[in-house]
Amino acid sequence: MTGEPLALYVHWPFCVSKCPYCDFNSHVRDSIDQEQWREALLSDLAHEARLLPGRTLTSIFFGGGTPSLMEPSIVESVIVAATSHWRAAGDIEITLEANPNSVEAGRFADLAAAGVNRLSLGLQSFDDEALRLLGRAHSASEGFRALQTAQKHFRRVSFDLIYALPGDNEERWAATLGQALSLGTSHLSLYQLTIEPGTRFATMVAKGELQPLAAEAGAGLYELTAAMTSEAGMTAYEISNHARRGQESRHNLTYWRYGDYAGVGPGAHGRRHGVRTVRHRKPENFLSGITGQGHGIVEEAPLAPEEAADEALVMGLRLREGIDAAAIAERFGLASIVDWPRVERLVESGHLRSDGKRIALTAAGRLVLDHVLGEIAALDPSYAVAGSSAARLASEPA
Ligand code: SF4
Repeated sequence: MTGEPLALYVHWPFCVSKCPYCDFNSHVRDSIDQEQWREALLSDLAHEARLLPGRTLTSIFFGGGTPSLMEPSIVESVIVAATSHWRAAGDIEITLEANPNSVEAGRFADLAAAGVNRLSLGLQSFDDEALRLLGRAHSASEGFRALQTAQKHFRRVSFDLIYALPGDNEERWAATLGQALSLGTSHLSLYQLTIEPGTRFATMVAKGELQPLAAEAGAGLYELTAAMTSEAGMTAYEISNHARRGQESRHNLTYWRYGDYAGVGPGAHGRRHGVRTVRHRKPENFLSGITGQGHGIVEEAPLAPEEAADEALVMGLRLREGIDAAAIAERFGLASIVDWPRVERLVESGHLRSDGKRIALTAAGRLVLDHVLGEIAALDPSYAVAGSSAARLASEPA
C-alpha cells in the first residue's frame, strides 16, 4: 500500500578479526573489493525496491560485521539510492554500527556527511582486560576517544556494553554502568554475555577453559542494571535496550513491533508483504547470486499466519510496552495468539501485566522471558479462523 512505512537493513559482512563470542554473520578477508561491494549492494537494494514500490522509508540501519569499515562513499551511495527508490520520511533515522578504533573513528565525519545521523558504537567494556577476553581490537582509552569523536559528529549516539562476564560482580558492574550513564548518550544497549553454539567461547566452555557466570549472578546483575538505569531516566524499553524518552531506536522498534523491513546484503533477513526473505550468508555466495540473478536471495517463503503471529508475539513481548494480543490475532486472521487462562495465571504469579487485550512482562517476567513465551504461546493451527491463508497475507502489506 502506498506510503506504508518501511525500514531498510543493510548488512556489511566483514570484520578485521572474529570475536570469540560472536555468532553474527561476520567474515575476515585479506582484501575486499569495495567497488564490487558497492555495485552488489545497490543491485540487491534495487531488487527489493522493485518489489516494494511506493513505501515511505522511516529508517536505514547499516549493521554487520563492521559497517564502519565500509568506504563512506558506499554508505552514501546506498543512502542516495534508497531515498530515491522510496520517499524518505522527514525524520528518517539512519544508523551505522561502528567499532571504536582510531581508524574507524577517523571516518565518522565522512559518515555523518554521507547522511548517517545516528551512530551505534561497540564499546563493549571500559576495562582492557575484559576487552582482551572479548577479543576486541580496541583498548578502553581508544573507546572513550571514539565516543567523544562520535558525539562531535552525530546528534544521536548509542553504545553497547557486555556484562556478566566470567568473574563479574555487582560492585564492578555498578562502577562500569555508573560511568556509562555519565557519558551523555541518550541510548544504551546492555547485553549479558551468552555462550552461543559454534563460537570460540562455546569451545572454551566445553574444554573447561572458560567458566561462564552462574545464572543467578547474571540475574542479580540484570536487576542492578534495571535499578540503575531507571534511576538515571534510561529505563529499558526493550529487554537489553535503554533510552531517554523519544530516543529509542526507531529501526529496531520496527522489528519488535513487527513492521515490514527490507534486508539487503549477505545473510540479511527481511519481511516483505508477509514473505520472509533470506540472503546468502557467505560473501562469495552472495556475490554469485548478484551476478547470476541480480539479487542475493537464497530463500523466500510466505509466512503462515500462525508463524507470523508467533514471531510478532516473541518480538513484541521483548518491549516494555508489550503487545496488543487481540490486534495481532485480528491482523493474522486468528482467533487468539495466546492461551488466555495461562496468561491470567502468569498475571497472578506476577510475571505478566494484562488488561485482557494487551500483555506485557513485569520485571520478574523479563528474567524468564523464554519460560513465559513457552507457557502462553497458542500456536496450535486450530486457532486459525477459516479463510485466512498465507496467500492472503502475501498480498497484504504488514
Ligand atoms: S566486531 Fe562485531 S560482528 Fe565483528 S566479529 Fe566482533 S562481535 Fe562479531
